[in-house]
Amino acid sequence: MRCPFCSNMDTRVIDSRLVGEGDQIRRRRECTECKERFTTYESAELNFPRILKSDGRREPFSEDKLRGGILRAIEKRPVAMERVEVAISQIKHKLRTEGEREVKSRKLGDWVMEQLRSLDQVAYVRFASVYRSFEDVRAFLDEIERLENDLPPEIKESQLDLLKSDGEES
Ligand SMILES: [Zn+2]
Repeated sequence: MRCPFCSNMDTRVIDSRLVGEGDQIRRRRECTECKERFTTYESAELNFPRILKSDGRREPFSEDKLRGGILRAIEKRPVAMERVEVAISQIKHKLRTEGEREVKSRKLGDWVMEQLRSLDQVAYVRFASVYRSFEDVRAFLDEIERLENDLPPEIKESQLDLLKSDGEES
């Protein structure tokens, strides 16, 4: 590795450590000539498949875009950032293990929805309504209904109670 200060070809690694979740190595280097120190980061080059959009265009996978979409969906929802990062790495893992050169954006969207469903149901519906742009109102209502059926019994009961007390009052 060439020294960025004097262009000398020989540098010495004086310290290496794992950063983040261990998917990157940070190396502190020292030039054997001018003794300047600098830092390099090393990470595996991962070949993500390209994303095939519904209009037929292809684009490289963007983690920032993925994160942006998820963050928009969970805005003001009680979801820990750690869980978001776990969801993102699971989606990336799926992309990498897919073994295809291209993945349809629709499929990527399905994976995001899968993750959001377990993170937060409101976030899930938000994302789904934008991403899928629910073909019609009926599809949207079906989805809401399905979510309600998936609710744990104790929540369902408390919602029924609310409905009942509303009914009595009016
Ligand atoms: Zn140097």
